[in-house]
Amino acid sequence: MTMPNSTAELDRAAHLHPYTDARKLEAEGPRVIDRGDGVFVFDEQGNSYLEGLSGLWSVGVGFNQPRLVEAAAEQMARLPYYHTFAQKTHGPAARLADKLVEMTPEGLTRVFFTSSGSEANDTVVKMLWYFNNARGRPEKKKFISRLGGYHGITIASGSLTGLPWNHTDFDLPAIPVRHVTSPNAWQNARDGESEADFAQRLADELEAVIAEEGAETIAAFIGEPLMGAGGVIVPPEGYWDKVQEICRRHEILIVADEVITGFGRTGNLWGCDTFGIKPDVLVMSKQLTSSYMPLAAIAISDEIYQGIADNSARHGTFGHGFTASGHPVATAVALENIAIIEEQGLVANGAAVGAALQAELRRRFGDHPLVGEVRGTGMIAAVQLCADRSTRRALAPEGKLGGYVFERAHDHGLIIRNIKDAVAFCPPLILSEAQMHDMLDRFALTLDDALDWAR
Ligand code: PLP
Repeated sequence: MTMPNSTAELDRAAHLHPYTDARKLEAEGPRVIDRGDGVFVFDEQGNSYLEGLSGLWSVGVGFNQPRLVEAAAEQMARLPYYHTFAQKTHGPAARLADKLVEMTPEGLTRVFFTSSGSEANDTVVKMLWYFNNARGRPEKKKFISRLGGYHGITIASGSLTGLPWNHTDFDLPAIPVRHVTSPNAWQNARDGESEADFAQRLADELEAVIAEEGAETIAAFIGEPLMGAGGVIVPPEGYWDKVQEICRRHEILIVADEVITGFGRTGNLWGCDTFGIKPDVLVMSKQLTSSYMPLAAIAISDEIYQGIADNSARHGTFGHGFTASGHPVATAVALENIAIIEEQGLVANGAAVGAALQAELRRRFGDHPLVGEVRGTGMIAAVQLCADRSTRRALAPEGKLGGYVFERAHDHGLIIRNIKDAVAFCPPLILSEAQMHDMLDRFALTLDDALDWAR
């Protein structure tokens, strides 16, 4: 029973939630999260939860980093808002752009700011359309994306996303995009197919799609180095080499969506480092500010920048931008967040604790009767639940077991995320090895319950 005028009641009566079954919420009410401390969050009743997903794959430095609070307060007091239109700038936006050019893979020379990953990927689409028009290639406009990929939910970014619940009844895709097969071996590798053969089959499909559409009509291939929201999908060995070779040969640009994988998530600074990707465009968000402030950034190659710059001179402006592009408080928080990541060696911590996490997940759960496979690298992993590992058969209906585990984990003080029957782990980069074991102890109790429930 909740009290009238409680947070839960006000919320239930007035708040339409993202990614939520609205009728279930009406019936059950929301879970109210009240405060955070390190890798833990606490609900209104004071129950603590180890945040195994860093909020939404994002709170790298943990939930009460005072330096970020101070950076925000200082900037609020000095200049709480200014824009970056019409040749204006301010210290935090300029310093962050410079820092990101220094940090991102070689060849990326300019940065554009938005407030969310979705806006960033919409911006990428528009930038590349603008760029190709500027270069006299008005037909080179299509995108290739992957089924299972996640790039956001706005009209263009949602079109790039390859998940059915983001398309059905939203009338998407609404831009020219072809979705190719996901490099998800659990779902898509054939019986007995080697990793190399699976990667080759995906490469052959990509070649075929390009031939069908005509390379001259395709602007870019977009992909997460390692898919996150599609179920933590580590591509097969050689996949990215093959994709890049094909795209380069056909003059198709590579967009690396590093919204989840950036800033140490996969054991290196960038997912591009982990998978040997040389992107023309790199999109980042989430751990850029540890989600303390909404911010995303797009780093582009000099070639793309020069095309856009020429066209902006022709039109007298680059007719694209957001009120909050390069917001001073958000960019100030990002600078401090990056300073913390660097000073505290959080990429190295993520690599070390991440390696232990990967090993322990496999050791402890690899043979569990409900587990089909454990996958991941660095501080991002998934445990694929199933009824029968040998046939990769789900416990019917698909997703119910994952949903049970997601809910039940709360009772053991653990927040994780299920994508159907894949249970994702993406803990804060500050996680200690002891906390990693604690997290897996809580997961073990949850899986024990699931085994009882499934029988
Ligand atoms: N791209 C990737 C890889 C993401 O994981 C997400 C969000 O989870 C987005 C884009 C969209 O970001 P946002 O939710 O900030 O719009």
